[in-house]
Amino acid sequence: MRTVDGRTDQVVVVGAGLSGLSTALHLAGRGRTVTVVERGEHPGGRVGRADISGYRLDTGPTVLTMPDIIDEAFAAVGETLTDRIELQPVHPAYRAMFADGSTLQVHTDTTAMFNAVERFAGRRDADAYLQLREWLTKLYRNEFDGFIGANFDSPLSLMTPQLVRLIALGGFRRWETMVRRFVNDERLLRVFTFQALYAGVPPQSALAVYAVIAYMDTIAGVYFPRGGMRALPDAMAAAAADAGVKFVYGSSVSGLEWSGSRVTAVHTSGGQRVLADAVVLTTELPDTYRLLGRTPRRLLRLRPAPSAVVAHVGCSALDNEIGHHTILFGDAWQQTFRDIIDDGRVMGDPSLLVTRPTASDPTLAPPGRDLLYILAPAPNTQVGKVNWDDISSTYVEQMLGAVRKRLPALGDDAELLHVVTPADWARQGMAAGTPFALAHTFSQTGPFRPANTVRGVDNVVLAGSSTVPGVGVPTAILSGRLAADRITGVSARHLNRKVYQR
Ligand SMILES: Cc1cc2nc3c(=O)[nH]c(=O)nc-3n(C[C@H](O)[C@H](O)[C@H](O)COP(=O)(O)OP(=O)(O)OC[C@H]3O[C@@H](n4cnc5c(N)ncnc54)[C@H](O)[C@@H]3O)c2cc1C
Repeated sequence: MRTVDGRTDQVVVVGAGLSGLSTALHLAGRGRTVTVVERGEHPGGRVGRADISGYRLDTGPTVLTMPDIIDEAFAAVGETLTDRIELQPVHPAYRAMFADGSTLQVHTDTTAMFNAVERFAGRRDADAYLQLREWLTKLYRNEFDGFIGANFDSPLSLMTPQLVRLIALGGFRRWETMVRRFVNDERLLRVFTFQALYAGVPPQSALAVYAVIAYMDTIAGVYFPRGGMRALPDAMAAAAADAGVKFVYGSSVSGLEWSGSRVTAVHTSGGQRVLADAVVLTTELPDTYRLLGRTPRRLLRLRPAPSAVVAHVGCSALDNEIGHHTILFGDAWQQTFRDIIDDGRVMGDPSLLVTRPTASDPTLAPPGRDLLYILAPAPNTQVGKVNWDDISSTYVEQMLGAVRKRLPALGDDAELLHVVTPADWARQGMAAGTPFALAHTFSQTGPFRPANTVRGVDNVVLAGSSTVPGVGVPTAILSGRLAADRITGVSARHLNRKVYQR
C-alpha cells in the first residue's frame, strides 16, 4: 500500500465531519500531532443539528448502523464508544408499511424475523429469509476487510482469493436479481433492496456487493444515541480533544501552501496559517480539487447520487406503535427510481422514510410532543428539472398528506419546523445539491471511485464520502481510518484485530 513519504509528525485535517473526526482519532492514537480545521461552529458536518422551538433536530443521518466500526475509532485512543455515548438498539429496525395496507416489522433477531415473515408472507418466504440472511452475512464477511475496509493502489489490488469468493457469491450480479433468488414476495423484495437508494443506485442496477447495506441494517441492527445523532460527532470530538487533538472551529480553509509537490501549511479565510507535514482533506470533491489546484477531466463525468427533501415536523405525542423508523412504500417502485434518477422529477407515487427519534429519546421534543423527520428521495440538481424554491411548500404539503393518509395519528396540529431541499443542500456547498456525494455505480466503486491519494501530490490524503469506501456513517468513519493508514501505514492494532476476528 502506498503511504505518504517523509515526515508526518504534524497533520492538519480539514473538516470535522465523521471522516475528519475518525482520521483525527486514528492519527492521534498513532502519535501524530493533529489539528482539525472546521468552517462550522461545531463538529458533525452532515450529521447536522438544529434547535427549533424546543425540539432538537438531527438534520442528517438517522439510520445508525455498525457501532463496531465506530468503536474502532474510539479504540484508537484507548476508549470505547460506550464510555462516551449511550447507544440504544432500535427494535424493530424498521416498520415497513405497504400501499396495500399490509405492515411488516423488520426484526434483526433471526427467530423474531422468521416468525414475522411467516405471518406476513407464508412459510416458504420465511425459509427463504433464513437463506437470504445467510447469504447477506457471507457477503459481508467476504467483503469487509478485503474491500470495504482496505486501501487500493490500483484495480489489480482487487485480484485476491476474496474476489473469487465474492464473484462466486454473486457480488457482481445485480442486487435485485440476487435477492429474487431467495424471496418470492414483492414486498419482501423491497424490504431487502430499498437500501440501494442509500448507495444512490436503483436496486435493479446496483451491484449485489452493496447488499451489505441490507446486512448492516436488517441483520447487524440499527442504533440510536441518547441525545440524538449529534451525540456521535460530539463524543468523537471530545475523545479526540482529550487525546490531544486541537480543533479550530469557525475557520474555512481557503488555500494550501506548497513546497514542490508537498503541502507545507493550510491557510484559512481568517488569515491563519497552520503548518503541516501532511494534510487530510474531507472537503467536497470540487472544493478538494480547487484547493489542490487541479481539475481532473473525470470530475465532469462523475455521477452524483440522488438527493432528498427532509421535512421536520413537531406533533402531539403519537401512539407508541409508530416506532423509530417507518418506511412508507408507495405502490410504484421501478418508476420511483426512474422519476428521481433518470427523469429528474419528484416521485409520482412517493416512498418515504419517517423517523420518530422521540420514540427512543422523548427529551428531543417538548413534553407531550413528538418529533418526526420525513425524508423523500429527490432528484439532485444536476439531473433535476425542479425549481425547489417555487415548489417546496406545495411538495412538503404533499409529503405530509401522504404520511397522514398512512399514519392518521399525525393530526392537524402538526407544526412544520424546518425543511431542507436539494436547493438548500446546494447552498450549503454540496455538489449537485445532494448530501449523498457520488452514486455507487460500478465505475464509482472501490478502486474505480476517486482514490484517497492524488497523483503528483506527495502528502495530501482524501477522506469522506466522495472517496473510498463511500457514503454513509460507517463508511465515512472507515474512510478516516483508511486516510490515517495512508499516512502511517496500517496500525498494528488493526492488524491484530483482523487476526483476532478470523
Ligand atoms: C439528510 C441526510 C440523511 C442521511 N442519512 C444517512 C443514514 O441514515 N445513514 C447513514 O449511514 N448515512 C446517512 N447520511 C450520510 C452521512 O451522513 C454522510 O455520508 C457522512 O456524514 C459524511 O461525512 P463526511 O465526513 O464525509 O462529510 P461531512 O459531514 O460533510 O464533513 C466535511 C466537513 O468539512 C467541513 N468543510 C468543508 N469544507 C471546508 C473548508 N474549506 N474548510 C474547513 N472545513 C470545511 C464541513 O463543514 C464539514 O463539517 C445522510 C446524510 C444526510 C445529509
